[in-house]
Amino acid sequence: MSSGHGGGGSCGLGTVQCVIPLEQAQQFVLSSVAQLDPVTLPRAEAVGRVLAVDVVSADDVPPFDNTAVDGFAVHAADVASGEADLRVVATLAAGDHTDRVLERGEAIRIMTGAPIPAGADAVVMVEDSEMVADDVVRLSAVVSSGAAVRRAAEDVAAGETVLSAGTEITPAVLGVLATVNVHEVSVRPAPRVAVASTGDELVVGDGPLRPGQIRESNRPMLAAALREAGCEVTDLGVIPDDEELLAEVLTSAAASHDAVVTSGGVSMGDYDVVKAVLGRIADMTWMQVAIKPAKPFAFGLLGGTPVFGLPGNPVSSLVSFEMFARPALRQMGGHQRLSRPSVVAVVDEDLRRGPDGKTHLMRVRADFADDGRCHVVPVRAQGSHQLAATATANGIAVVPDGDGLPAGTEVAVLLLS
Ligand code: AMP
Ligand code: MG
Repeated sequence: MSSGHGGGGSCGLGTVQCVIPLEQAQQFVLSSVAQLDPVTLPRAEAVGRVLAVDVVSADDVPPFDNTAVDGFAVHAADVASGEADLRVVATLAAGDHTDRVLERGEAIRIMTGAPIPAGADAVVMVEDSEMVADDVVRLSAVVSSGAAVRRAAEDVAAGETVLSAGTEITPAVLGVLATVNVHEVSVRPAPRVAVASTGDELVVGDGPLRPGQIRESNRPMLAAALREAGCEVTDLGVIPDDEELLAEVLTSAAASHDAVVTSGGVSMGDYDVVKAVLGRIADMTWMQVAIKPAKPFAFGLLGGTPVFGLPGNPVSSLVSFEMFARPALRQMGGHQRLSRPSVVAVVDEDLRRGPDGKTHLMRVRADFADDGRCHVVPVRAQGSHQLAATATANGIAVVPDGDGLPAGTEVAVLLLS
């Protein structure tokens, strides 16, 4: 898959400036990036990472039969009549143990988590008990054998694969690792990603803008989006439209990172220097994706390192990141679910568009209503330069080519939060 800067070419991947459907562009990117090599981390440092191998438990969890409630361990047969007076012969707290075997007619006072004593086969909860003498309890409940008993290995059996490769380490997973006595885990590392903006018009400092200048938004936005996607970020700053400098910065960034993300300079303009430079030093595919916004997109390998060339318009940059970079970076990090969760939502306000051969990725407010369904309304402005409106969105509605979707119809929506 190679195509340099400039030149024409027939349409289809592997050629220059092909106009391709969204799914094809996504597929191409995903087929070009591999999972990162595993690293071993202390489990507490692995939250958010993805297991590279299965975790097999050496132990049963729970390790022994124990009580789920505070109460009295009994022979279930002793309380079959619904009321029984039993002699209390011992007390067991969580952490205690007794070798005493419970005889018929006896009960052992027992607290949640304590081992079920030998002989007992059920627990009557304390709410159904009354002490009628110093060592006699009246139990007024019928329980079946096994009642309120948590069996050994009921959660995890020794030898069982308790967590499989591909599992993201969440707080609950961390708890499981602790339970099965695993202190270090083999995980896919967080992708180290360098991010740069390009453009002579971009201003970073807080000084006044000279005519023609704008304040730079994409790099902080993309850096935050990268972190949110589980990446470690290096900020390369704003690089002026200088081919020599850009080549140097991108080459060195690619050599020391797992991926490079650039913003700006990938469309058809004369000053699209990212395009000129990457076309020269990397193995790039320049795409015109049949979507709006974010039509121009470049992907390739620079010294084997994936490079995502996102468009400069801020909304396009963000949407392009969502559609192409984020899924690919998640794949590198070992994730199984690459895209955002998608729901079929009810359109509450017309999603207006005209036919143009593209899928429109409209930014919407998505909320779950009392009918149990997700409902969407478009944010107030859909221009690719109108980031303030997009910042109010929490979803991207996938509006197929055509005359738009009127209120009351349905639309597929990617939920961003
Ligand atoms: P480009 O993709 O470089 O042709 O830029 C397209 C539009 O996005 C132009 O209006 C640029 O000024 C604007 N733009 C490019 N990069 C940024 C950025 N990092 N922050 C804000 N606007 C940008
Ligand atoms: Mg530019």
